[in-house]
Amino acid sequence: MMVKPLKRIGIILIIIILLPAAFFSIYEIGSLSSSEKVIEEIYNNQLDAILYSVNQFSEDVVSSWTNKININSVLETLRPEQFADELSKLQRENPIKQIFIVDDLKLENLRIFSPPSPEIKKISFENDGAPEDAKFRSAVKSLVRNNTNKIIRLYTYRRGGYRKIESVQTNLSDNSILLIFLLDNEDKQPRICGMFVDPINFIRRTLGPKLQEVSQGKFIISVMRGENNQRVYITESTSAREISLKKQLWLLPSFNLSIVLKGTTIQSLVKSRYYVSLVLIIILNLVLIAGVWFVFRNIRQEIQLAQIKSDFVSNVSHELRTPLALISMFSETLEMGRVRSEDRKKEYYGIISQEASRLSRIVNKILSFSQIEAGKRKYNFDIVDINEIIQKIYNTYNFHMQNNGFVFTFEPDESLPLLRADSEAISEAVINLIDNAAKYSKDKKVINIKTAQSNDSVFIEVKDEGIGISAENQKRIFEKFYRVTSGDIHNTKGTGLGLTLVKHIMEAHKGSISLFSTPGKGSTFRLNFNLNNDSISMEKK
Ligand code: ADP
Repeated sequence: MMVKPLKRIGIILIIIILLPAAFFSIYEIGSLSSSEKVIEEIYNNQLDAILYSVNQFSEDVVSSWTNKININSVLETLRPEQFADELSKLQRENPIKQIFIVDDLKLENLRIFSPPSPEIKKISFENDGAPEDAKFRSAVKSLVRNNTNKIIRLYTYRRGGYRKIESVQTNLSDNSILLIFLLDNEDKQPRICGMFVDPINFIRRTLGPKLQEVSQGKFIISVMRGENNQRVYITESTSAREISLKKQLWLLPSFNLSIVLKGTTIQSLVKSRYYVSLVLIIILNLVLIAGVWFVFRNIRQEIQLAQIKSDFVSNVSHELRTPLALISMFSETLEMGRVRSEDRKKEYYGIISQEASRLSRIVNKILSFSQIEAGKRKYNFDIVDINEIIQKIYNTYNFHMQNNGFVFTFEPDESLPLLRADSEAISEAVINLIDNAAKYSKDKKVINIKTAQSNDSVFIEVKDEGIGISAENQKRIFEKFYRVTSGDIHNTKGTGLGLTLVKHIMEAHKGSISLFSTPGKGSTFRLNFNLNNDSISMEKK
C-alpha cells in the first residue's frame, strides 16, 4: 500500500530535480570544452595581431628608406655628389650595406653606392686576386638576372600605382638580404634599385625597440633564424618555454617571430578554469542528490507515519469492539432474567466487570499517550516500595491469569531499597508488560515477574516464554504505533502504544528499559532504575 505513492514521489523528484540537473551538467560540461576553444582562438588572434603589427612596422621602416632614395633620385643626374651624400647618410644611420641602381633589366649603367666606412658595412669577397668591385658587380648582375620575374612583377604593381618591395635571400658571404624596389624616372621606365640589408643588425637595431614596446612586459617576443631555430633576439631573457605562436617575418622570410604570454599561459588558465567548473558541477550534483535523498526520506517517513496512524485507528476500533460486544451480550442475558443459577450469574458479572476494566485500560492507554504527546503528562514522585506495587498488581491479575491457563509467579527481592517514583506510572508500565507477555504467549504460558538489584540499580523484570521478538523488530517496537505485523501475531489486537508509554515512563524516572528476546523462546523486559541518580533517593527498609 505504501509502496505506490512512494514510488510516484521518487519518480517526481527525479523528474523535476535530478533530470534537469543531469541535462544541465551534461550541457555545461559539453560547452566547457567548446568555450575553451573559443578562448584559445581569441588568444591566438590577439597574438596574431601583435605579430602582424611587428611585420607592418618593419615594412613601414623599409618603405621610409625607399621613399627617401626615390625622392632623392632626381638628384642623381643633376647633382650626383649630393645624391651620393644622401645615400651615405641613409647607410650610416641604418643597417644598410651597398645600394645599387640600374636603368632596366638589360643591366645597363649599373651604379653601386658603397657605405661610408667600407670595412664595417661593405659586403666583402675572398681575395683571390680579382678586383673586389668587379666581383660585386657580377654578383649583383646575377642576382638581378635570377630575380627577373620578381622585378617584372614590381613593374606591374607600379603601373597599378602600388610601390612594392621584394625581398631576396642572397648567398653572399654575410647572408645579407637584398631588397629590390623601383625608382620613379619622370615619364620614362622606372629604374631598378637594390639595397643590401644586414638582417641581424636590422632585427636588433631597427625592430628591437619596436618589439620591446609591443611586448610591454606582458609577452615575450623572440626572433629566430628559420633553418635551425637559432635565437637572434628576445625581448626578455628567460628560460626556454613553449612557443604559443610563430609567424614569418615578411621582409626577412628566413626569420620567424615567436610570441608567448609571460607567466601563466592562457592555455593553462583555460585548463584550470575547466577543472574548477567541472569540480563545481560535480559538487552541485552531489548536493542535489543528497538533497533529493533527504527530501525523499522525509516524505517516506511521513507516509509511513500516516499509514501507521490509519492502522492504529482500525486496531483501536477492533480492540474496543470485543469487550463492548461481550458486555452487551452478558448484560442483556442477565437483564432478560434467563439465568437461574447464582453461580452462573456471578460468572457473568465477573466477565462484565473484567471486560469493562479491559475497556478502561485501553481508553486510559490512549489518554495517557495523548497526554505524553501533548507534553502534559504529570508525574507525582513519592517514596515507594516497588515490591508492594507489584504485589498489588500480582494479586489483582493472578486469578485471571490462572483462569487463562498461565503459570504466573512473582519473586520479589526482599532487600530492595525504597525508591522515589510515581507509583501509578510504575503500575501502568508493569501492567503493560504483563499484558504483552500474556498477549504474545502461545502454547507455553509462563510469566514470571522479578525484582532485584545490582550495584547501582534496581530493576523489575517481566519474563515470558512466548513468541519472542526478532532482532530487527527489537529496535522498533518502542516507536509509537509500531506493531510487528508479520507471522502469527497478526491476529493479536493492540494499539502499538504500550511500549511507547513504558519507555516514556522510564525516561521520566531517568531509568531505562532493556530487552532480551529470542524468537520462539520468549522475551524478558527489564525496567532499570538508576540508584546513582539524584531524582531517585533511596532509603533502606
Ligand atoms: P501492542 O501490544 O498494543 O501492539 P506495544 O507497544 O505494547 O503495542 O507492543 C509493540 C509490539 O511489540 C507488539 O505489537 C508486539 O509485536 C511486540 N511485543 C511486545 N511485547 C512482546 C512480548 N512480550 N513478546 C513478543 N512480542 C512483543
